[in-house]
Formats: sequence, structure tokens, C-alpha cells
Amino acid sequence: MLLVAIVGGAVAGSEAALVCAERGVHAVVFERGVRPYGKIEDGLPRWHAKLRDKEYARIDASLNRPEVRFVPRTTIGEDLSFERLRASGFSAVILANGAWRDRSLPIEGIDAFVGRGLYYQNPLVHWFNHHEEPGYAGPQLELAEGALVVGGGLASIDVVKLLSLEAWSKTLRARGIDADVVSLEHRGIPAFCEANGVDPRSIPIRPPTLVYRRDAEDMPLADFAEGATEEQRAKTRVARRRILERVMERYHVAFLPKRAPVGMEVVDDRLRGLVLRETELVEGRVREKPGSDHVVASELVVSSIGSIPEPIAGVPMRGELYDFADFETGALRGLDRVFGLGNVLTGRGNIRDSRQNAKLVAERLVGTREREDPALSKVADDAHHEAHDNAERVLDAALAGAGHADLTSIDALVRERWAAVGYDGDYARWMATHRAG
Ligand SMILES: Cc1cc2nc3c(=O)[nH]c(=O)nc-3n(C[C@H](O)[C@H](O)[C@H](O)COP(=O)(O)OP(=O)(O)OC[C@H]3O[C@@H](n4cnc5c(N)ncnc54)[C@H](O)[C@@H]3O)c2cc1C
Repeated sequence: MLLVAIVGGAVAGSEAALVCAERGVHAVVFERGVRPYGKIEDGLPRWHAKLRDKEYARIDASLNRPEVRFVPRTTIGEDLSFERLRASGFSAVILANGAWRDRSLPIEGIDAFVGRGLYYQNPLVHWFNHHEEPGYAGPQLELAEGALVVGGGLASIDVVKLLSLEAWSKTLRARGIDADVVSLEHRGIPAFCEANGVDPRSIPIRPPTLVYRRDAEDMPLADFAEGATEEQRAKTRVARRRILERVMERYHVAFLPKRAPVGMEVVDDRLRGLVLRETELVEGRVREKPGSDHVVASELVVSSIGSIPEPIAGVPMRGELYDFADFETGALRGLDRVFGLGNVLTGRGNIRDSRQNAKLVAERLVGTREREDPALSKVADDAHHEAHDNAERVLDAALAGAGHADLTSIDALVRERWAAVGYDGDYARWMATHRAG
């Protein structure tokens, strides 16, 4: 029997478990969290309610199967070492643990000010999603008006919105208006205020500002169509600017384009702003303008410049990423029968990309496709043939050596972890008693 270990049970890990299960390959999913929802629960701000519910249901359906054993509250690298996991007799180990480490702001010494004027995106959104839950025992974050958010990707737009929505919710509540952030987000701040008889212009909240190295038209708010003409690309760029303007208006956020953070403003041992340098685009590349440095004061800086995989002792790194020998197969360099998939491999913070990548990599690992999905087939067809052949050779070789899993040793390991965390092996029961907030 083939039995794989999957590290991380969210979009990518659950999809890999499903692919395995559909082919009769059993999987043990080791998940750090109480629940397996990963960035869906803790990364996406909680106003994405419909998307969250849909993804929760999909993950549950993939994990609640007889071929899949779920092991919650188990961080590989802490509760269970990667070496022990590898030595436990699995046919293969799949890393689907996503990207949870915020990329550091490239300003020397700035990380010393985390919690003193600086927050990073991942802990901020986790706090935002959970701090109003009864029994929340995590860190308490203190926000401030007029924050600077350094970013430019899609997630940074959610972050700057989040800061504004929190400020408005707090202020309106202080005036006796029941303004929860989700209703504010759904209606937009001006419409919500109007519906509650408040003139938003009468409320002096300083908006947070998104600081971006490029311009509004360069933001990934709308994609260029494949093979788009210059004219079509110009239209897309106009559409991007309009989308951003709508966000600014609906959520009272400001935008500061063509600025790169190059230094920090520290007063009384607290970060109180950034030194920004103007930039320009030269042949599509960002170039900083010498002599243009200026201080922008702010009581809070939030860095939202991307997430990278967290290091796990025993997993080789190459720069910010794990050291993949082959991005087609997800094979790790120098580690026999260890593969990565989803966000950990693609580096793209996107549900669809994570799931598609997990499906492709897992299918190559455990066998040919059975479920038909035209979108995925197209991705596969479009893949570079030479690389694809090479990938299949790598996998054939990898799994040929795998043989059957050592069921006794794996069973003992799973039961040891279940006993440690109080899980009785019944996924539905566990999820019913550990519901998401
Ligand atoms: C602010 C924000 C907004 C976003 N908005 C959108 C959007 O609108 N649309 C969209 O498509 N995407 C969006 N995304 C991105 C999307 O949520 C993620 O790209 C996607 O969910 C990643 O799925 P994954 O399974 O690859 O990784 P993750 O969801 O990160 O799953 C990894 C899992 O592994 C677990 N894990 C981590 N380390 C360990 C370990 N050592 N041992 C055991 N388990 C471990 C984690 O707990 C987690 O459950 C957004 C992200 C953010 C941050």
C-alpha cells in the first residue's frame, strides 16, 4: 500500500489528499492548526465570508474520507521533527505548508520595532480575524489612524482596507452605531454612514495610505489578457486605476505611488514613520531617484510585501524558498521522495493557483488523471513538453524506490500524536467541536 504524509491540510494539502484518495493512495495530513483551513481562515480577512464558507466545505469534503487520516495541532519541525517524519516509513512526503513568513522590509534594523510602530501582514490579519471571538487569547495589536501600508499586491489592498474599517468601526461604535467591520465592508463606508444618518465628512479619521513602488496602473488588480494588443493593455491599465480609485472612495484609504521605503524615522525608541524615496519606471523597471528622500511620519507602519515559506529544520532552502530541484514535479533537491505543492511551490498567493498546482503535482506523483477538469487539462497541455517528460522521469524514479509504506510505524506515530492532542480520529466530530469563528 502507498501511504503519503502531507504537511498542511488547507487548499493545497486537502487537494493533494483528495487526488491520492481517489487513486486508492492513503494519506496522513499533519496540520499545525486546530482546523485545516490555513490562509482561508487566517489570511483572507473575514469579510470574504462566502468564499471562506465555500472553501471550508471543499477542504472538509476532501479530508473527511476513509483514506485520509487527519492529525491536527501538529507542527512539523516543532511537535514532530521533519527527520522523524521522513524516517517513519511513508512512501513520500508532500509539503503543502504554504507561505507564512512575512518577507522582511528591506530597511536595516527595522524588525526591532515590531510591536512598537511596526506590524507585518500575517499576524495583523490573524488578529483581525480572531480578536473579537470569545476566548481569544492571542496577542493584542494596537492600531493607529493614518498608518502607512507598504505593499502593492492584492493582499496589501485588503490590509489597507482592514485598517480603515477598524478605525471607522471603532469611531462609529463610540457614537452608539452598531458598525461591525463586515457590514461596513459590504456596504462601503460612505453608504453605511448615510444609512445611519451620519455625514462621513464630519468624522475626522485620518486614512491609512498604501505606499507602492510603482503606479496605480501597474497594480495586479486586473490581468492583461493573453496576447493582448497595446490598445487592450492600455484599457486594462485604465481599469486598474479605476478599481483602485473605487477602493479609495468606498473605504477611505489613500494611495502614495512611486515611493520606495529606504529608511526609518525613530523617535523615543518607537518607529514613527518611514523615509521614502521617489521612483520612476525606466524600461519597465523601477529606478529610485537619488536626492528625493523624504520623511513621512506615521504612528503605524504595516508591511505587506509578500509571504514566503517558513524554514523547517531539515528542509533545504535556496534563498527565500525551499530548494526545489524541479518546479514541475515539486521535488526537493537532495531529499528522496519529498515534494512541495501549492503556495509553498508556486509562491503565488492565490487559491485557484494553489489548488491547480496541488492537483497537477499530486497527479503526477500518484498516477494519471481520473477526474476531468478542462481548466487543469489545459494547464497540463500547455506545459513545456521537455520539462514535463523530465518531470515524469524524476517521479518514476522517485516512487519506484518507494515501495510500500511501513504501516506499523506510521500507525504508531499517528496514534501518538492523536493522544497528545486529544483527537479521536473522527474528523466530523472534531470539526463540530472546534468550529471556526
Ligand atoms: C490578505 C489576503 C487576501 C487574500 N485574498 C485572496 C483572494 O481574494 N482570492 C484568492 O484566490 N486568494 C487570496 N489570498 C491567497 C490565498 O488565501 C492563499 O494563496 C491560499 O489559500 C494558499 O493555500 P495553500 O493551501 O497553498 O496554503 P495555506 O493556506 O497557507 O495552507 C498551509 C497549511 O499548512 C499548515 N502549516 C504550515 N506550516 C506547517 C507545519 N510546519 N506543520 C504542519 N502544518 C503546517 C498551515 O496551518 C495551513 O493550514 C489572500 C491571501 C491574503 C494573505
